[in-house]
Amino acid sequence: MYNTDAIEERLEAAAYKATDNFCYGYYVVVEGDRCPHCESDDFMRHMEGVGVEYGTDWVIEELIRQHCEPINEENLYCEMLDECYPMIEIGCLSWYSSYLVINLDPIAFRCGVSEYIDGLVQDGEYFEYDGGYYRLEDIEEMLDDIE
Ligand SMILES: [Zn+2]
Repeated sequence: MYNTDAIEERLEAAAYKATDNFCYGYYVVVEGDRCPHCESDDFMRHMEGVGVEYGTDWVIEELIRQHCEPINEENLYCEMLDECYPMIEIGCLSWYSSYLVINLDPIAFRCGVSEYIDGLVQDGEYFEYDGGYYRLEDIEEMLDDIE
């Protein structure tokens, strides 16, 4: 079990580092902790070339989109099946177990993919952002670069 809180914290910090404070009232980027115009410290995040929005979730998603490649979860599941189960042989013919599951029971295959990836996400080996799955190592590498 990986410590996902530590990663979330690092992502949050990276999101702040990759953005500026932005005062919505005066619609300006603010240097420092208080807006010089209205004294507010309730800032939006401003990301150069991307946009302005409250919160850091969208910044984290953008950073991951820019720096990491989503994995192909179907391929990952097939690799697991083929590592865990032997090839099926009949006479001189043989098939990978993943090939058989995909072709004989595509619904079971899709269920298997989503259960498998959910398990990996729960274990903290993979993260889901914006519908894509990303390897923890790739995210850590990105964070090392940003920090
Ligand atoms: Zn202001």
